[in-house]
Amino acid sequence: MNQRLPVQGAQGDLLRLVATGEAESRADLARLSGLAASSVSLRVEELIDAGLLAEEGSGTSRGGRRPRLLRLSPGAGVLAVADLGAHHVRLGLLDLSGTPIVVEEQPCEITDGPQRTLDRIADAFDTLLAAHVPGHVPLRGIGTGIPGPVDPATRRVVTPSRMPGWNEFPVAEHLAARYDLPILVENDANLMAAGETRCWPGRKNLMVVKAGTGIGCGVIVNGHLHRGRGAAGDISHVRVRSDSSILCACGHPDCLEAYASGAALMAALTDAGISVTRPADIVTLVNDAVPEATSLVRTAGRRIGEVLTVLVNFFNPDVVAVGGSLSAAEPLLTSIRAAVWERCLPLATRDLEIAPARAGRDAALLGAGTLLLEAALTQP
Ligand SMILES: [Zn+2]
Repeated sequence: MNQRLPVQGAQGDLLRLVATGEAESRADLARLSGLAASSVSLRVEELIDAGLLAEEGSGTSRGGRRPRLLRLSPGAGVLAVADLGAHHVRLGLLDLSGTPIVVEEQPCEITDGPQRTLDRIADAFDTLLAAHVPGHVPLRGIGTGIPGPVDPATRRVVTPSRMPGWNEFPVAEHLAARYDLPILVENDANLMAAGETRCWPGRKNLMVVKAGTGIGCGVIVNGHLHRGRGAAGDISHVRVRSDSSILCACGHPDCLEAYASGAALMAALTDAGISVTRPADIVTLVNDAVPEATSLVRTAGRRIGEVLTVLVNFFNPDVVAVGGSLSAAEPLLTSIRAAVWERCLPLATRDLEIAPARAGRDAALLGAGTLLLEAALTQP
């Protein structure tokens, strides 16, 4: 069953506050929304009547009558989200609070082109829904992470690397033909950043680097994803200093991606006669102390760190979190840290944390849940 959330505006704000766990009583809602208690109560009753909220049990008493607890109704709905990589797709069904109901990973070649890839994802969603969600619980939205730049205005992919056939493909329209629901199409590093920020309470400004087949970065400003015009955080085509010259897929020489991405490292290892098919193989080689792999990863980390040096000085984040399949290679983070500590202003690094990403493999799915709930409460 596909059905849009029947709420928007102030009522949507109240539902979001409960879904995100920020509010668990009518009193919390009144305090956080600034609405009058009577007005909150009226809207909460409507949300309960609509089958979206349930009220039960008793909260912590602050003296006086114990407040009754508000929570999402189990039948409020589910979100279907996917995180597309070069060779695989990670799929999940989440409840409206973003809690995974089921997550699975399937092989999927992005070079098969957008139609086949997106149809395969939609088929997989339908199979998961049939197996894991009772028929009366509606699907409320579809979210997809794309490993390339996405224009937030058109929700199309724009000049991606290593994604033949995807340029300007109308991803949202293609999915909308199958699902008459709010549809989120977002760069994968942005989704990862939105998921990661949930794991850093109290930290408002983050840079979340995704080191996988490509290199991405998502930027969280004052607790919110900063998209800019769509390419905010895209560090892959920053020019790096080099004695040699490598032409990047974008047509310019010496982009960061041409030296430090998983794809670049795999090409260099293959040239050295070492067989690798995915970035995770590089991590295995590093763990097995293969010197060529360790040296390449260390150099990649230093190059990424040098680019981050500029950004850390400029943006002064609280956290630089490093995730993605290549981040499991320990020398990568060590080299990034060394470059940033060495070159950044003391004031910029005084309380800076450069750390492995915390949200784990489902970071992008969790981020998709957060952003998709927002979309479902605002998209007409
Ligand atoms: Zn480039």
